[in-house]
Amino acid sequence: MPGSRISLAQLMQVTGVSPSTPPVDARFPGQRGFELNQVDGSSHPTLADLSECLFFSPGDGRIWLQDQRMVLMHAEAMGSLRRELIESMGLDKARGLLTRMGYMSGARDAELIRRQWPDAEPSVAAMAGTRLHALEGQVKVEVVRVRFDAASGEYQGEFIWHNSSEDDEHIAVYGVGGSPACWMQTGYATGYVSTLFGRLILFREVACRSAGDAQCRVIGRSVELWEDPQEDLRHLQLGDRGPNAEPVAATAEALGEHSPTSGQDPTLVGASSAFNAAFHMVRRVAPTPATVLFTGESGVGKEMFARSLHRNSDRAARPFVAINCAAIPETLIESELFGVERGAFTGAGASRPGRFERADGGTLFLDEIGTLSLVAQGKLLRALQEGEIERVGGTKTVKVNVRVVAATNEHLREAVRKGSFREDLFYRLNVFPIHLPPLRERSDDIPLLMQHFLNHYRERYQREVPGFSQRAVKALFNYGFPGNIRELQNLIERAVIMVNDGELIDVHQLFRGGEELSEGVLSLPASAAGDAGGRLVGGTESSSSHVSLTPGQTLGGAEQEWIAAALRRSAGNIAAAARQLGITRATLLYRAKQHGIEVGRIRR
Ligand code: ZN
Repeated sequence: MPGSRISLAQLMQVTGVSPSTPPVDARFPGQRGFELNQVDGSSHPTLADLSECLFFSPGDGRIWLQDQRMVLMHAEAMGSLRRELIESMGLDKARGLLTRMGYMSGARDAELIRRQWPDAEPSVAAMAGTRLHALEGQVKVEVVRVRFDAASGEYQGEFIWHNSSEDDEHIAVYGVGGSPACWMQTGYATGYVSTLFGRLILFREVACRSAGDAQCRVIGRSVELWEDPQEDLRHLQLGDRGPNAEPVAATAEALGEHSPTSGQDPTLVGASSAFNAAFHMVRRVAPTPATVLFTGESGVGKEMFARSLHRNSDRAARPFVAINCAAIPETLIESELFGVERGAFTGAGASRPGRFERADGGTLFLDEIGTLSLVAQGKLLRALQEGEIERVGGTKTVKVNVRVVAATNEHLREAVRKGSFREDLFYRLNVFPIHLPPLRERSDDIPLLMQHFLNHYRERYQREVPGFSQRAVKALFNYGFPGNIRELQNLIERAVIMVNDGELIDVHQLFRGGEELSEGVLSLPASAAGDAGGRLVGGTESSSSHVSLTPGQTLGGAEQEWIAAALRRSAGNIAAAARQLGITRATLLYRAKQHGIEVGRIRR
């Protein structure tokens, strides 16, 4: 039948699922079949585990679900957007758009579950989607029955949906009509389950409150089990363009560039507005011969941007030569930059070219330019103005064709005022300044950079590290990064070396050098994840306790608090407290002793 052989990879391409994730089939080995007709609330991830992934960072205006930024929006505002979509594009197009939007959320949530709970049973991982969907305030899911046959890959499920926010909004505007309206929710279920199982599993609403039914009833089936999947596929924009149809290019565009890197340049990683602004400037100036001055704190990636500038220029095939002016003794910097003639000074046994000559035709990157001596500044100015240099101890001039890109972490204007930097050179360099913001001002990029460096070091050290624990993510979002991206990179490199294969990176592997954890991030206390009756679906015993970080708190202090809180919560039961913290009983006892906690005396 048409459409039934559309691969998940194609679907993912269309719906914008991150291309950086490995093929789904590859990361879901040993998939087992299952059959269930009720949810076991006590298997991990429980609702309590999942609600701990959700945290609020009101200080900088962000909410996170693990590493994904979320928004808390008025359902009524969503309803008004929905109405405008229907009125401006028609019911069918609006339905497709909202279905695909839901698909993307579902796919992202499935990725989260696979990454954070790689060992979860497939049935439990599948049910985690219903819990996330509920946690996100969309719908409460009641399982009627679900069956998954690992051998044939066939999935069949039936669910009842309660309290669908989409229905509430639809009915408020249009009243009860003739067709189902939980489009986003259906897309979510399709996206979640398809991404989880690595095959296309379509969900359809067969009864809906918006259509006058008492409750919404949803059927999910592997695509090949549906007799008429064309309409559903069309709403996912796969259409019935035949089994081997290529995804619609326009759709991928409509869904936006999703690559976490800057597309053309895999070495630059970022998606924040601050990053995009800087990258846009680099692309604009790259093809011109203009001198560029990068400003920003140490560790923000000035050399990476300079390299990108070079690669995007018409000098890309010629050399890129970098020199850190601060790393070279003042007495040697001139010969380093401009070369030296034999016998110019003691030790100059042979003539050799400097960096300017070596960069001929290409780009010369001068980092920490503010540290250059006034003599070297004069020679640099001449090189910029005349396009010629003179070797130290030499008498003849050498023509050079070099684009100079400079960088500084100092205020050069200030240095000019104080007389330590030549004003004419400053204006010569400051033709096209690009400011690179510190990492704390582009925290949207932290999750991308975390993943980027994790992938990098996992490969370099041949380690099987699935990801970061929730606590580690929270701590990284929360950290001020005085050393910027370089510091984040170092923390992750160290953690990848420290962590055992198969384990998530935790806080103690990241922060070991007495870094100060600053400013609080709030997360839902486990008790807020209970159902209407106040019962905690996940069970308090299995949830780890929440301790918020306070300004100026050290890691040691936080660890001490965590251990004490876990012991209180478990009423002094050491094994239970250790489970909560994800460590062994022996480790807990050892650490508690280090912190001077008298384990036997702690009671709830
Ligand atoms: Zn419905």
